[in-house]
Amino acid sequence: MSLRMVLLGPPGAGKGTQAERLAQHLGLPRIVTGEILRTAVKNKTSLGVEAQRYMDRGELVPDQLVVSLIQEQLGQLNGQHGFILDGFPRNTEQAQALEEFAQIDLVLLLDLPREEVVRRLSARRTCERCGRIYNLVYQPPQRAGICDACGGQLYQRSDDKPDVVARRYDIQYNQEAKPLVESYRKRSVLVTIDGDGAIEEVFERILRVLRSHK
Ligand code: AMP
Repeated sequence: MSLRMVLLGPPGAGKGTQAERLAQHLGLPRIVTGEILRTAVKNKTSLGVEAQRYMDRGELVPDQLVVSLIQEQLGQLNGQHGFILDGFPRNTEQAQALEEFAQIDLVLLLDLPREEVVRRLSARRTCERCGRIYNLVYQPPQRAGICDACGGQLYQRSDDKPDVVARRYDIQYNQEAKPLVESYRKRSVLVTIDGDGAIEEVFERILRVLRSHK
């Protein structure tokens, strides 16, 4: 299938969870900037060392670092035409850079109010080994602190603490991403999905959009 897609939305709207399902459902590769950056931080690569100070503060990593990362990832897709971008682009500069090397067919905006974002993210836990995401309230692991999929330890991302969450929402989403949303809306490639609700329910809303997009 050839569908070049971007998932947008505030942190905690469920982009990661839905992108994972969607990638499986459509058989498309998923490119997740946050995950790539966290791996780089963990491995202390030069990208990781540079990125960490921004990530710890809940700020965006400089555009040129992320843009070259994405360009490299898309370049490795070897003949595969579709993909799901999760976490990129995050501002209009990144979107402009993306246009130079890829065309986008569909942008899904997963929308969620700020109070719900803070509530969800404070309960979010991530597997340190495979990156799988849990929520202590909505989707807890079977054994406390242990990943169902790989047995890895679950941890709370340092940027999922309430004060950093609020900052990520206000700066990254309200200030940086909103103009991006508007520019995609003007180009008629944007569809907004209500991110409030159970994972299955939101996924069904996304599938409905995809069916009518064909
Ligand atoms: P996420 O997992 O998508 O919430 O990303 C975690 C952190 O990685 C963000 O708070 C940013 O510091 C950084 N990051 C992820 N994607 C980007 C991007 N496209 N541009 C700049 N920084 C990013």
